[in-house]
Amino acid sequence: MGSPTEPKVDEVSGRKLALIFKLIGKGELNITPLIDHSVGVRYPYIEKVMELKPEEVRELLESLTAEKLLKKSLYDKVFACPKCASINLSPRGLCPYCGSFDIEKKRLLEHLRDGTKFVVNKLFEGVKPVCPRDGMELEPHEYRVLASWFECNICKRKFDTPEVGFHCITCGLDFKAREGEFLEVYSYSLSEEMSDYVEKLANLKILAESFTSAGYNVRFIENLEGLSGSMHKFDIVAYKIEKEKEIKVVLDLYKGEGEVDGSVVISMFAKVLDVKPDKAVCVAIPSLSGVGKNLAKQYNIEVVEGSNAEEAASTLSKLVR
Ligand SMILES: [Zn+2]
Ligand SMILES: [Zn+2]
Ligand SMILES: [Zn+2]
Repeated sequence: MGSPTEPKVDEVSGRKLALIFKLIGKGELNITPLIDHSVGVRYPYIEKVMELKPEEVRELLESLTAEKLLKKSLYDKVFACPKCASINLSPRGLCPYCGSFDIEKKRLLEHLRDGTKFVVNKLFEGVKPVCPRDGMELEPHEYRVLASWFECNICKRKFDTPEVGFHCITCGLDFKAREGEFLEVYSYSLSEEMSDYVEKLANLKILAESFTSAGYNVRFIENLEGLSGSMHKFDIVAYKIEKEKEIKVVLDLYKGEGEVDGSVVISMFAKVLDVKPDKAVCVAIPSLSGVGKNLAKQYNIEVVEGSNAEEAASTLSKLVR
């Protein structure tokens, strides 16, 4: 039953499954990050639905990835403090000679009408430089930039490009760009194994309604102890008390591209023989092979077929009511 890569449900905590179900419920299969410089990398949607702190969300997503329930893809790389890994950084330009941050950006401008050349320290967009000769506030078309450079207020040297440095707001470290580290930022989505598993769970949910509407209590992926003492896992186990006696129905779901191979009936029979339920149902989507149907008849296993889970569920309803 199932492929060897199928996640082991028993090892997955309820909290993790809850997350998966919530994601599926919302059709939210891609978990994208938000780079929040004051907090770090965040996944706001998961924080909200799981009521977790940002760092708890990151741990949860990583552990789900390690368990192959999610897969991650590189979303971005961000600059981080080499000491504390914070991304709460303030960039600054540094003097390449003495390392001081006390530097100026200078420009040599020319007032085109009168040819006056003068130096300005700052030139933010929309700010009009003033000609020192005639006091005119110059519009962009009235002057040109002849040169630009940087100057250190401490060692007084001039240079073309400042060294880029960062101040870490979290731990206070000042470091140069080349001393920084990169942090990978990931987005997450359901792994292929999980997508198959999720599809199966969705189908089981549809089938379960046939039982619940007939008054059964339903458990998914349930382990039952057989007479031999070994445990057997069934996709659905449905219970109902009738005339003070418990009725137990087990169901396994098999889905194939085409006809489901008859061997599934043999493996189900081995479990059924040990567990001795009141009824055993083999659901095959879209259909079970002729050999499988014959075996099921001999083994007293009910076969339910359907092109999809809904169709199978309506047949199942007639069988269990
Ligand atoms: Zn300097
Ligand atoms: Zn002028
Ligand atoms: Zn730091």
